[in-house]
Amino acid sequence: GKRITLQLSHILQEIRLIVNQTLPKSIEISLGLEPHLWPVVGDVTQLHQVFMNLCVNARDAMPEGGSLRIEGCNVQFDEVTAGEFLAAQPGPYVRVTVADTGKGIPPEIVSRIFDPFFTTKEIGKGTGLGLSAVMGIVQSHGGFVDVKSEVNQGSQFAVYLPASREAA
Ligand code: ADP
Ligand code: MG
Repeated sequence: GKRITLQLSHILQEIRLIVNQTLPKSIEISLGLEPHLWPVVGDVTQLHQVFMNLCVNARDAMPEGGSLRIEGCNVQFDEVTAGEFLAAQPGPYVRVTVADTGKGIPPEIVSRIFDPFFTTKEIGKGTGLGLSAVMGIVQSHGGFVDVKSEVNQGSQFAVYLPASREAA
């Protein structure tokens, strides 16, 4: 798709509105944005899909309700902090986290959740393609994804996208 210099805050505000309409009342959604997020270069439709997929998974992880939190902030990686992440280069990134207070991901399956067609959902409820699309899109934008999860506590997916120096 077409790549433009964009503000993730615009995409995230739209995602919040759309997702809000699909959530049961038992799930509360909130959005926290650092002022003046750095711009990123990307495909709006694809990035939309990334955050939608993460929000749908967060919703599905909270059948009894909970909270879905989206945050955007600027992070600057030096050699050392970049080294903590496989394949990350030093430089400026925008980090978007999608966090839920749901069922969490058992450690023994966490290495497989990005595999195409891997799903723990009932037949007809999941395709297992959501996270493989997330990974493919984020990597094609030069970024990476980090997952933290604790069973019965919740999960946090962090998407790092390289920041652009151009003005958006
Ligand atoms: P699908 O949602 O169709 O199952 P995904 O690729 O989006 O496929 O996710 C794969 C699997 O990863 C899910 O079936 C689930 O087991 C796990 N998963 C993804 N996101 C979460 C989350 N926020 N909380 C708990 N498990 C998750
Ligand atoms: Mg999914």
